[in-house]
Amino acid sequence: MKNRINVKRLPKDPGPAAWNRILPSSAGYPTLKDDIHADWVVVGGGFAGLAAARRLSQLVGDESIVVLEASRLADGPAGRNSGFMIDLPHELNSDTYAGSQHQDQQQIRLNRAAIEFARETAEAYGMERQVFDPCGKMTAAGTAKGLAHINSYRGHLDALGEAYELKSAADMKDWTGSDFYQQGLFTPGAVMIQPAAFVRQAARGMSERVSFYENSPVTSMQFGAEHRLITPGGSVRAKRVILAVNGHIQSFGFFPSRLLHVFTYASMTRALTPQEISRLGGVADWGVLPADPMGTTVRRSSDYRGSGNRIVIRNHATLNQSIEVSPKNMKRAAGLQDRSFANRFPMLDGVEMEYRWGGRLCLSLNSMPAFGEIEERVWSACCQNGLGTVKGTLSGMMAAEMAVLGRSDLLTDYLDHQQPKRLPPEPFLSLGANATMRWKEWMAGTEL
Ligand SMILES: Cc1cc2nc3c(=O)[nH]c(=O)nc-3n(C[C@H](O)[C@H](O)[C@H](O)COP(=O)(O)OP(=O)(O)OC[C@H]3O[C@@H](n4cnc5c(N)ncnc54)[C@H](O)[C@@H]3O)c2cc1C
Repeated sequence: MKNRINVKRLPKDPGPAAWNRILPSSAGYPTLKDDIHADWVVVGGGFAGLAAARRLSQLVGDESIVVLEASRLADGPAGRNSGFMIDLPHELNSDTYAGSQHQDQQQIRLNRAAIEFARETAEAYGMERQVFDPCGKMTAAGTAKGLAHINSYRGHLDALGEAYELKSAADMKDWTGSDFYQQGLFTPGAVMIQPAAFVRQAARGMSERVSFYENSPVTSMQFGAEHRLITPGGSVRAKRVILAVNGHIQSFGFFPSRLLHVFTYASMTRALTPQEISRLGGVADWGVLPADPMGTTVRRSSDYRGSGNRIVIRNHATLNQSIEVSPKNMKRAAGLQDRSFANRFPMLDGVEMEYRWGGRLCLSLNSMPAFGEIEERVWSACCQNGLGTVKGTLSGMMAAEMAVLGRSDLLTDYLDHQQPKRLPPEPFLSLGANATMRWKEWMAGTEL
């Protein structure tokens, strides 16, 4: 066992977490100021951390559970994503798609178990439909290239026996108000969440059973019969620890040279006026995923507790192995998003973006999670390979089951994976990956 580690880097979240900003402010949780003891500590309050805490609370009787979050809940990536909880494998339409049918079916089963867990969480804590909406997902194309992607995606869905419905350009216009989309492909198993509201309400629901500490980053860890997690204001001693910090598991010294730190970016409009809403047309809440993997995700969300009706545009990705972005990255993303918005919503000319932000993803070359017992009684539930609303939830559930039960049917399926593959050396990795992403973005054309 290691004696001690110093955490090399703490999370830096570029720009505001807009989904959190548009919610009414709420009382937060204390900052850790004392030296305390707990039976269990979960580090990280995103999807993985919350799922781990909730699953632990179901499994460990009255043992105490503490969650330490570096920032404020819902200010990190968990509160800055597009909110699609997707049951189907994401890469069905990618060039690199090489999954076997058996693996895909296993992945779908696991994803659905995680969505079910999130659904139970939403029901237990009385979340409204605008927070957790089991509305399915629409993948849409605006160009011939996008249509080709939809076609190949359909082929994979047919092979898997998964249900879908095709939507015409007229259906898409009725639904979104935009002329941009030529075709849509609807699959019923996904859920759309207001990510920050989901995170906040899940934590609030658990808070009688689980002690949350915000603005309490773990800066070092001592390992022993009881591990000690040290933050700037205090520390927690605990026998068992779950690290649910996604890519920052590398900052704790684990999985070196195996994790890709990718940022993606988004912009949210100001609240639309009633005139703008009627010029736009379409329904009040919808979301569209791009048929081309390098394309643009769009969401329209209706007023929820005073948030106003808004549109969110997400695109662009950069590899930043420093786990930080530059102002140049943010500026380029803003330009691309303004162009995507103008292409889709000419009737909203003049509507400005109120918020712009970026957020971390963690990927591995072979799309494997960074999961398992990494030191005695320390488990990792990290590296969600992009789709962290679902895969984060899954890895948190699985880490809790592994730590408490040792085995379960779901865990047997989940553990059927390899370790994240070793990365090529720098500077070749960053130069190569960023050049490939720029080229794919360029090839995506107006799908972006
Ligand atoms: C713009 C954007 C759009 C996206 N859209 C989608 C989508 O539609 N669907 C989807 O499934 N995914 C989406 N994602 C990805 C998704 O947000 C992430 O994969 C997900 O948040 C990962 O969950 P997690 O709990 O593993 O990690 P995180 O949400 O990153 O949570 C980890 C937490 O650990 C904390 N932490 C880190 N270090 C420490 C420390 N030393 N001490 C204490 N706490 C620490 C961080 O502050 C953070 O809150 C999107 C991401 C972005 C940025």
